[in-house]
Amino acid sequence: MLGQLLHLHGIDSVIVENRSQPYVIERVRAGVLEQATVDLLHEVGLGERLAREGMRHEGVYLAFNGTRHRINMAELTGGRAITVYGQNEVVKDLIAARVQTARPLHFEVAGVSVRDLEGSHPAIEYTAGGERHQIDCDFVAGCDGFHGVCRTTIPAGHLQLYERTYPFAWLGILANAAPSSEELVYSLHDNGFALFSMRSAQVTRLYLQCAPDEDIHQWPDDRIWAELKTRLRTDDGWGPNEGPITQKAVTPMRSVVAEPMRYRRLFLAGDAAHIVPPTGAKGLNLAVADVWRLSNALAAYYGSRSESLLDDYSDQGLRRTWRAQRFSWWMTSMLHKSASDNPFDHKRQLAELDYVVHSRAAMTSLAENYVGVPLG
Ligand SMILES: Cc1cc2nc3c(=O)[nH]c(=O)nc-3n(C[C@H](O)[C@H](O)[C@H](O)COP(=O)(O)OP(=O)(O)OC[C@H]3O[C@@H](n4cnc5c(N)ncnc54)[C@H](O)[C@@H]3O)c2cc1C
Repeated sequence: MLGQLLHLHGIDSVIVENRSQPYVIERVRAGVLEQATVDLLHEVGLGERLAREGMRHEGVYLAFNGTRHRINMAELTGGRAITVYGQNEVVKDLIAARVQTARPLHFEVAGVSVRDLEGSHPAIEYTAGGERHQIDCDFVAGCDGFHGVCRTTIPAGHLQLYERTYPFAWLGILANAAPSSEELVYSLHDNGFALFSMRSAQVTRLYLQCAPDEDIHQWPDDRIWAELKTRLRTDDGWGPNEGPITQKAVTPMRSVVAEPMRYRRLFLAGDAAHIVPPTGAKGLNLAVADVWRLSNALAAYYGSRSESLLDDYSDQGLRRTWRAQRFSWWMTSMLHKSASDNPFDHKRQLAELDYVVHSRAAMTSLAENYVGVPLG
């Protein structure tokens, strides 16, 4: 996305990626796009397939005590909504756009390192085709995820990490089964959290709260379906449709923020700077908001040599990040069972859910955070 935004501003960039093109396209992760992400994809010329295949959801369900309650997000937020469109589809569209610009995009590079951060011309080195290459840069954008090299290149003492690890994880599956609900269902059951979601009219995406060290081999398909049905089924007879499971994986849950998001001419964006638990569906959307701000700041720098937006980049990003962290933490705490919880905690969670689905003020708060605040 940063490459596309810079291209539209007429700014050169080189993208280096250590995985192969098929790998990044097939990697199944996020699927919920905020309104602002959808609007930006349209603005940068990538809205055509999204408009055709993306599924706009104006509402979301919270389920507890055997009942599903719908929150009408569009009505509460002046018409804003989320769109279900797989992250891998977004990545596919972005790669196609990049290829069309003929600007450099190098897959399967190795040994990436960033150096000379102290001066005005940092450099990136990498190996490709058995040869070592160097890119001399004005700026480096660290968009290399939480396990990338950019954040760890920042000298000790210049970065503070704020972190929280949750005592549970998500077991996620993809199944060839038609979704039995047109909108997402977040459920709290005595056995723990479950989420009903989808990728298309034929594919359901479902998650179960599990232990952080859960052994996926202990979860044959029959056990997964039995548990999903137990946790999701409501008194009106609704439940997920069953079908062949095509993918399953366990995802740990944590919150991390690195402050500041900048060291001299290196700017951190996306998961390189922050991780959110997936409950609030904010990770991809925060990454998009970061690079939108960074592209505007770089455009101002090259247009008028103004550095004020570059100087604001981290503070603005951290404000949005902490807002998303608070929301993701709140959704996670409200909907998951923790081993340290006692019956009081469970009753309090149910009271909170009851309040959220019956108070217009509480519903509006959830809705405006879930569909996401405008960029800026
Ligand atoms: C199961 C799951 C479900 C999720 N659901 C949602 C959701 O519903 N909504 C949402 O908004 N978010 C969700 N997320 C989070 C979302 O996927 C991430 O926040 C998002 O991918 C962050 O984008 P990014 O570009 O910062 O990092 P990434 O997508 O991780 O991209 C970083 C890239 O850098 C590459 N890289 C790493 N190291 C190097 C190196 N040394 N050199 C070169 N390249 C390198 C990686 O291969 C990768 O392609 C989910 C995540 C998971 C795992």
